[in-house]
Amino acid sequence: MISLGVTGGIGSGKTTVCGFLEEQGARVFYADLEAKRLMQEDEAVRSQIVDAFGESAYREDGSLHRAYLADRVFGHPDAVERLNAIVHPAVFRSFRAAAERAREEDLSLLVHEAALLFEAGGDAHVDRTCAVVAPDEDRIARVTERDDVTAAQVRARMQHQWPQDDLRERADYVIENDGSLDDLRTKTLDVYWAVLDERS
Ligand code: ATP
Repeated sequence: MISLGVTGGIGSGKTTVCGFLEEQGARVFYADLEAKRLMQEDEAVRSQIVDAFGESAYREDGSLHRAYLADRVFGHPDAVERLNAIVHPAVFRSFRAAAERAREEDLSLLVHEAALLFEAGGDAHVDRTCAVVAPDEDRIARVTERDDVTAAQVRARMQHQWPQDDLRERADYVIENDGSLDDLRTKTLDVYWAVLDERS
């Protein structure tokens, strides 16, 4: 088994790439979804969040009060850091467990998909990394088409993510998503086979 971290900025195409890898039989661990699940379901994570941000972080019915938490961390880097220090280690624990299961099942490839793989230190938990990058104008067009957001909102999010050149520099593999979906599938398969070759 070999593990591959797949990252990329908003609208770069990383989820699409992961879908193509799943078609090849890879298992994909979606770090952002796992973070949401842990904040909702994991007792240790919940109690650390309450300690750090107060009882109001959860509603009376037990559900995470996202708006409250977003308000507490928005524009407060120290609060973001405190929340990350709770959630990221828990996500990495889950990933290690997923990797253990993947090894037991003799899977070839386990993918760790994360928008902020390098920023969160997730690259330390995978064997190889792959960045998906795309022209900014394409990313904005695709996200405004996919979601109910404006181009300005997408640009604002891009400002909080690593520049794509930094991703290109850091990642072992780079997929330039500047063509059709068929092109993207072909480039993804090239990376898939190259990573599997590294395993042997
Ligand atoms: P986010 O971080 O916002 O979740 P993402 O990096 O996971 O974005 P995707 O969801 O994979 O990006 O892609 C964004 C949108 O663009 C999707 O609707 C996807 O189908 C579309 N898309 C991605 N690549 C291409 C392409 N080469 N041609 C046409 N559409 C594409």
